[in-house]
Amino acid sequence: MDKPSTITNDIFPPGKTPIGEGSFRFDCHPGVPCFTRCCKNPDMYLYPYDIIRMKRRLHMDSDAFLARHTLSAIRDNPFFPSVMLKMAEGPEKPCPFLTAEGCGIYEDRPSSCRTYPLERGVTRMDRLGRREEYYFLQKDAHCLGHREEKEWTVADWVADQDIEAFNRMNDLWVDMDSLFRTNPWPKNGDKQLRMAVTACFNVDKFREFVFDSSFLSRFPLSADRVDRIRETDEEMMKLGFDWVRFFLTGRPFAP
Ligand code: SF4
Ligand code: SF4
Repeated sequence: MDKPSTITNDIFPPGKTPIGEGSFRFDCHPGVPCFTRCCKNPDMYLYPYDIIRMKRRLHMDSDAFLARHTLSAIRDNPFFPSVMLKMAEGPEKPCPFLTAEGCGIYEDRPSSCRTYPLERGVTRMDRLGRREEYYFLQKDAHCLGHREEKEWTVADWVADQDIEAFNRMNDLWVDMDSLFRTNPWPKNGDKQLRMAVTACFNVDKFREFVFDSSFLSRFPLSADRVDRIRETDEEMMKLGFDWVRFFLTGRPFAP
């Protein structure tokens, strides 16, 4: 299992063809001989919405979740740190949420776990606010689920794995990630970088900042939006993205 699979350009990865309307064979269940193998020492990148889902599931705030369960490092984006799930100690380095029965946070498992064996690519949004998505089949040698008989279309798999809500939130992240890849930081921009990491990945810390500082007097929001950011992590995450985009590009955001 590799990083959550979102490709931010229109070019298909080498050697990969979108599944389109076609179908693929796959099944994953406790009867497959490799059951939970992919939950040991995976290189798992997390998206901001993955963190929201997992920290809520674990009844933790995002600051505590990030400190306990994640690592952060410069990886494929040279201008912004990636956040990865920290594996448990031990020779097999299992995912900390792996239990004898399988995934212990199944309903809230991150994007990469739920999308596999598919890999999703999306184009950047065009001027009319449209983007296209493609799905590719990802075949890993250790995964014997590909030898199972069950046949799926992409639409069936997306519905069965409850992927759509993740896709919608991850698409917003794609736009932020694309911006960070342009190296938008001012000279000596460490402070801005730290603020962006907090706004994107640490939703509870960002909420504290919004409500406990002069943020709302500097960026007055409508009463409706204030209610929404108070009530949901998703809306607070969107505000975080809007604000970071504003201070990096000057693009105003809706109050
Ligand atoms: S979150 Fe669940 S499915 Fe994903 S690696 Fe961990 S145990 Fe496996
Ligand atoms: S079938 Fe594939 S996805 Fe399922 S447990 Fe085995 S390696 Fe993981």
